[in-house]
Amino acid sequence: MPMPEIKRVLLKLSGEVLMGEQEYGIDPGYVARLAEEVKTAKDSGLEVCLVIGGGNIFRGIAGAAKGLDRTTGDYMGMLATVMNALAMQNALEKLGVQTRVQSAIPMSSVCEPYIRRRAERHLEKGRIVIFAAGTGNPFFTTDTGAALRAAEMNCDALMKGTSVDGVYDSDPKHNPDATRFETVSYDHVLSQNLKVMDATAVALCRENDIPIVVFSIREKGNVARVLSGDGVQTIVQK
Ligand code: UDP
Repeated sequence: MPMPEIKRVLLKLSGEVLMGEQEYGIDPGYVARLAEEVKTAKDSGLEVCLVIGGGNIFRGIAGAAKGLDRTTGDYMGMLATVMNALAMQNALEKLGVQTRVQSAIPMSSVCEPYIRRRAERHLEKGRIVIFAAGTGNPFFTTDTGAALRAAEMNCDALMKGTSVDGVYDSDPKHNPDATRFETVSYDHVLSQNLKVMDATAVALCRENDIPIVVFSIREKGNVARVLSGDGVQTIVQK
């Protein structure tokens, strides 16, 4: 299945990939490696928007399971995504890539607030814009934040870099016979509850006709391979 034609991409990385081999938090060495991957997308001529999760630091739902109010936990989770965004900004700028972090929760001493038209201008100037703090609302995820920003910024695709190399018909960690889809429809993902992104994010992409490209960010060079059509991935589309 050929990759969709992409000029502007939203790359979403799960927070857990920033842990490297650690069990928690941020491994700066690994973030530097990921930054090189992100740079390859930029170097291939694309305009790049970036969203990073926060699950390596905090998830509201996990806090709620231990007695924290869900909304408080969710705000903590959103703050975690800002830390990840700053770590990635630092790593990208060490590679000479210009970036701006824009947060859905304004914190003017740390980064810019999210302003769509300003983000547009940054992209035109060749900067990577890192969108932090998800949607800015509790009860959502950074996947939904990514789908929302991809729609707002008119991205041609949402590339989800994660620990698995695509979408499977069952969990490959538990079922050795699980098979990977080359392409799969939004409707199938939603009706079968396949683990791609949460349902809100998938529905938002369906409504706005944004293909979701799920691939593994763990292997070096994978962003370039996927973009050139030589990669292993699953494309979720109509
Ligand atoms: N979060 C939220 N609203 C958002 C985005 C994120 O409340 O719009 C919180 C939520 O608690 C979530 C946490 O931030 O669990 C970290 O984000 P996520 O779980 O999406 O990170 P990932 O799984 O991609 O690492």
